[in-house]
Amino acid sequence: MSEHSKERTLVIIKPDGVQRSLIGEVIRRFERVGLKLVGMKFSVPEPNQVEEHYTLDPEWKRKVGEKAIESYEKKGLTPPSTDPVNIGDTVVERLKGYMTSGPVVVMAWQGAHAVELVRKLVGGTEPRSSDVGTIRGDYVLDSYSMADTNDRAIRNLIHASGNVDEAKQELAHWFADAELVEYRLVQEGILYDVNLDGILE
Ligand code: GDP
Ligand code: MG
Repeated sequence: MSEHSKERTLVIIKPDGVQRSLIGEVIRRFERVGLKLVGMKFSVPEPNQVEEHYTLDPEWKRKVGEKAIESYEKKGLTPPSTDPVNIGDTVVERLKGYMTSGPVVVMAWQGAHAVELVRKLVGGTEPRSSDVGTIRGDYVLDSYSMADTNDRAIRNLIHASGNVDEAKQELAHWFADAELVEYRLVQEGILYDVNLDGILE
């Protein structure tokens, strides 16, 4: 089997995704593109589990803060702070409230370009501006301006790892090695085999 087929990514259906009855729809989209489900759990996360998840990358708070400052400035608004890390701290606190408000589905998906494909199907962070056809674009309407007005995290249904390194760290954070199942899906022959010579009798 091609080495490409081994890439893995972490997806979390956030509490709003579960409440909107979108578990099946989300799984359907990843299944139909050809990815393989290799791990899944359902629980209410602990606040420290959420904080650790978002701070696995020590730069994440700064990056998310910079992104927020940029989006305030683009709208001609004054950001609540000029220090990105400060804004990042606030975002993490809000995420802790959001992500522990109910059960979530934590999943590991495997396949060629898994990280990139899942991000493409999930869409941009803000549902209001994310593309039509993506999960965040099609199934919810939240915006930075609504979230900021109400001092809460933006509700965008789903988390997906941002790059291959982030995926490795996040998978290790949510799953023990033994909880990720190595198995063959029959369709992988069609997706990855060099020759399609097992079809005709
Ligand atoms: P993602 O990778 O597209 O989920 O986005 P990030 O990793 O940048 O942010 C993680 C999560 O934090 C997002 O999915 C949002 O729920 C929330 N979030 C990020 N940036 C902001 C922000 O500027 N304001 C608010 N209210 N929430 C944010
Ligand atoms: Mg992210």
